[in-house]
Amino acid sequence: MGIIRTTKAQRRKTAEFKSSTMADDPTQSPPEPDIVHTSQTEVKCDGDGGALGHPRVFLHMENGQVECPYCDRVFILTAEAD
Ligand SMILES: [Zn+2]
Repeated sequence: MGIIRTTKAQRRKTAEFKSSTMADDPTQSPPEPDIVHTSQTEVKCDGDGGALGHPRVFLHMENGQVECPYCDRVFILTAEAD
């Protein structure tokens, strides 16, 4: 019985990932959130189907307002006209 000793010299190259700093592009400013006043606590939003269009979602207001997770549109509950 013999003991075979294998020595492996493994040289690992550490891959360096260059962290690219994402500089703010002055030409691409984020759109300001639209504010929609409504008298209903249940609203639906589809981004108007334009450039900011998204699947229609139903939002339920909490504390008198709700923000659309898609287009950041803010719906504010107005006083009910009675
Ligand atoms: Zn929306």
